[in-house]
Amino acid sequence: MQLIEGIHQIEVPTPFPVGAVNCYLLEGSPLTLIDTGVKSSLAIGTLESGLSEAGYSIEDIEQICLTHGHVDHIGLARTIMNRSDRSMNVWIHQMDSERLIDYEGYIDDRMRAYHRIATESGAPIQEGILDSQPALARYFLKLGESVEEVRFAEDKGMIETGLGALTVEWAPGHSLGSVCYALDSKKVLFSGDHVLGDISSNPSLDFDGILGISLLKYFESLEKIRKYSGYSVYPGHRNVIGDLAARIDDLLADYERKFNQTEEHLGDVPTTIYDLSRKLYGEYDSGQLILALAETQDLVRVLESRGQAKLLTHNGILCACK
Ligand SMILES: [Zn+2]
Repeated sequence: MQLIEGIHQIEVPTPFPVGAVNCYLLEGSPLTLIDTGVKSSLAIGTLESGLSEAGYSIEDIEQICLTHGHVDHIGLARTIMNRSDRSMNVWIHQMDSERLIDYEGYIDDRMRAYHRIATESGAPIQEGILDSQPALARYFLKLGESVEEVRFAEDKGMIETGLGALTVEWAPGHSLGSVCYALDSKKVLFSGDHVLGDISSNPSLDFDGILGISLLKYFESLEKIRKYSGYSVYPGHRNVIGDLAARIDDLLADYERKFNQTEEHLGDVPTTIYDLSRKLYGEYDSGQLILALAETQDLVRVLESRGQAKLLTHNGILCACK
């Protein structure tokens, strides 16, 4: 579907609850694809038919710009490179590049991180996170592939496309190496999963802690792109965002509500992060466990940084209290 002259959106299906990922084709030379979809025959077929509707084939793609290193965005990069007979630039921010350069290693890392967060948060054994891990890892491994030869999309760097230069805006939060690409010539911002129209960006899920509390980093990154209010915002999932400033304000207000709710559930007696997550999110299923624990930890950390909560270790388990 052509969004404006020279820019086509292709909705590529994923097996995840979020639904399709939006890939964007920028016409002209070099013919540029922003994000790729997962590696599946359904995704390849959909990408092919979207490209052909715009008058192109996979073999015509000359450059790939990735908004971040999650598999729904990077999974097909290797397949597209293999189908091309020319050398191709694949751009990704350095902090997400390891995920692409060594996809298998990244999946191993993630599984270890999931195990760690479930254990340290006090999730009961019946949540089954340990038993289901090998199957989960096998499932993810099928959906992506490594690309060793990448170029780093650096903050404020410029990448030439057929429609003008893209400016890279590093926006850590959803992942450490998330970027937005601004196309000033068309007043368009490709926001990846940093800002989505009607769903959360889940900025707590990349909980490495290297950059500090990921929620706070995410808030900084939201303010960083506020200057693109007035641009059309083309996100990684769902619909185009018309009013960026309003969306940023909504997201910040949502989090303030969550901080208040979290504070209300805290008492003088320490409660485990797992128990607190059940109070906050109710009867979520085991597929949502890691996300719920990661966000609960982050909410408490932010409250602690404001002097409104304490995070402590009790019998080896992370707990929170007033
Ligand atoms: Zn995504």
